[in-house]
Amino acid sequence: MDDQNDIFHGQAAFVSLFAAIYASLCCGARAERVALATCCMDNIKAVMQFAVMPHDHASHDDPHALLPSDPALRVKALETLLTRKGLIDPAALDEIIDTYENRIGPRNGAHVVAKAWMDDDFRTALLKDATPVVSELGYYGRQGEHMVAVENTDTLHNMVVCTLCSCYPWPLLGIPPGWYKSDAYRARAVREPRKVLSEFGVELPKNTAVRVWDSTAEVRYLVIPQRPAGTEGMTEDALMDLVTRDSMIGTGLAVQP
Ligand code: FE
Repeated sequence: MDDQNDIFHGQAAFVSLFAAIYASLCCGARAERVALATCCMDNIKAVMQFAVMPHDHASHDDPHALLPSDPALRVKALETLLTRKGLIDPAALDEIIDTYENRIGPRNGAHVVAKAWMDDDFRTALLKDATPVVSELGYYGRQGEHMVAVENTDTLHNMVVCTLCSCYPWPLLGIPPGWYKSDAYRARAVREPRKVLSEFGVELPKNTAVRVWDSTAEVRYLVIPQRPAGTEGMTEDALMDLVTRDSMIGTGLAVQP
């Protein structure tokens, strides 16, 4: 976790900036405004204020009305502007993105799930109050301040969405996949979850209930998928390989070895 600690503590300013840019486009929320407020470069705060305002969970009139048609273009424009002003280093942003995509990503969540499968006490504590439990493993940070773990069983399947935008547990799962942010997924996950699951290749028995959890700016969810049969005796590392990103969102199942 040393690399992650370096990112979180050594480059706090850049993390705050990145969170603010990303959040303003995808997950505007109080937490991100706090991130912006804690950014140590006052000039960046001033530049970014206009980016945070349009997509704020506090305003529910039409939260997406002011989003640009192409968020990627807006991110690029902001990055170019801030780079020209000498307020950010593109290489540092690349490092942060690489961290979330490749190092912090779903392996962290898979570690938590594998531990829950192997250790009943850990599992019980995780389901009771996930935030301190995952923090103890070093999985904490922005977009993961308030974690809730929900467990799949023979009679209940959990699935996560953010109907308003794209709130997602970054410290455990990394950056959300594109489909998670799509209008179609956000609308259909709550309207016809079984059909959506079917399109992801998940066919559930009729007597298995589906519970859809709507993420918020404050609360992010981690699905604990069912442990596949025949995995008794497997090591934690081996079990981790069975835990996919989608299985922790609820749009997939753990892989059968
Ligand atoms: Fe959101």
